[in-house]
Amino acid sequence: MSEADLIGDRVRAIRERLGALADAGSVKLMAVTKFQDRAAALAAIQAGVDAIGENRVQEAQEKWGHVRPPVPIHAIGHVQTNKVKYAIGLFDSIDTIDSVRISEALDGRLDRRLSVMVEVNVGREASKFGLDPGEVPCFLAQAERFQWLDVRGLMTVLPRVRDDSVEESRRIRQHMQEMANLWRMCRSEGWPWAPLDDLSMGMSGDWEWAVEAGATVIRLGSRIFGPRLNAVRD
Ligand SMILES: *Cc1c(COP(=O)(O)O)cnc(C)c1O
Repeated sequence: MSEADLIGDRVRAIRERLGALADAGSVKLMAVTKFQDRAAALAAIQAGVDAIGENRVQEAQEKWGHVRPPVPIHAIGHVQTNKVKYAIGLFDSIDTIDSVRISEALDGRLDRRLSVMVEVNVGREASKFGLDPGEVPCFLAQAERFQWLDVRGLMTVLPRVRDDSVEESRRIRQHMQEMANLWRMCRSEGWPWAPLDDLSMGMSGDWEWAVEAGATVIRLGSRIFGPRLNAVRD
C-alpha cells in the first residue's frame, strides 16, 4: 500500500469514528502537517480533511508559499512578532493569540479582516503558551479595539496524557470540561468581534474525549501521518 493510500485510510477511519461520536459536520478535522512534505499533506487533503495546521511560519512558507492548498491553513504554533508580516500573508487563521502584544502587531499590519483564535493554557503549565483561563474573558472583552481581528474561537494544547489510568483520564477530561465551560460562557456574551464559533481541542492521544467534551475542531498529526521520527523538535 502506498503512503498516500495509508494516509487516506487513516483519515477515513477517523471520520467514521467521528461519525459515531458527534453529529455529522459538527466537528472539523484539521490535519497537522508539521514535518510532513507536500505529498503527504495533499494525500490527507484529498481524503477530505477540513483544514491543515502548521507550527512554524518558515516551514509553512516553504511548503505552501508558492502553491496554496485547497483548504485553509491555520497557524497552530507560537508566532513571534517579527514573523507577523509573513504569517499574515500565509495563514487563513492564526490560532495562537495569547497576548495584547501579538494582537497589536497583527492588527497594526493588517488591512483586511483576519480570523484568529485565542490560545488558552488550561493546564496552567509553565512550559506552554496561552492565556490563563481566568484572563480570557477580560482579554476578549477588550479585543474590540483590534479592528481587523475576528476572534473565531478558543484553542488549547492540553497536558500530555501520561498513562492510561482512570485518574489520568479524569484529570485530562476535567481540563477539557473547563475549556468547554469557558468557551460557552464567553460565547454567551455575544461580542460581535468574538463570535467564538469554534473550540479547537484534542490531538491524536485524546481526541475522542475532546469530542465528547464539545470540541468543534480536532487537530491530528501522528494519527493521520504516523509517528514523527523527528518529534524531538516538537
Ligand atoms: C503537533 C501538534 C498537534 C498534533 O499532535 P499529534 O499528537 O501528532 O496529533 C496538534 N496541535 C498542536 C498545537 C501541535 O503542535
